[in-house]
Amino acid sequence: MAKSYDPNNVFARILRGEIPSKKVRETEHTLAFHDIQPLAPTHILVIPKGAYVDMDDFTANASDAEVTDLFRTVGSIAREVGAAETGYRVLSNCGTDANQDVPHLHIHILAGRNLGRMIN
Ligand code: 5GP
Repeated sequence: MAKSYDPNNVFARILRGEIPSKKVRETEHTLAFHDIQPLAPTHILVIPKGAYVDMDDFTANASDAEVTDLFRTVGSIAREVGAAETGYRVLSNCGTDANQDVPHLHIHILAGRNLGRMIN
C-alpha cells in the first residue's frame, strides 16, 4: 500500500509551480533542480513527478517507466555537469534514521569537490 503523502510538502509545491526553483532538467516523469542550500559546488535534486514519499514507496509503487526515467536522468545530469569524469555522490535520505527532511522522494547529486567518505 502506498505511504501517506503530504500534498503540501515543499517539493510538491515546486512541482505545482507554487515555489520557484532553478530547474536543471524536466522529463515526462522527472524534475531536477538545484538544491537551495548546496553542500558542494554541484548539488542537484532529482525527483519523480509522481507523489512518492521515499525510495521504498517509489520502488514498490512506481511504474517501470517512472523508475527508469528517474535513474537515467540522474546519470545523464551527472555526465552533463562533467561529474562522470571527476566523480560524484548520489544519495537519498529515506525516513527517520536518515533524517529525511522533505517527504517527497529526492535523489541528491553532489559533485565538484572531494566529498570525503560520508556526508553527515
Ligand atoms: P533531505 O534532508 O530531505 O535529504 O534533503 C532535503 C533537501 O532539500 C535539503 O538539501 C534542502 O536544502 C533542500 N530544500 C529544502 N527546501 C528547498 C526549497 O524550497 N528549494 C530547493 N531547491 N531545495 C530545498
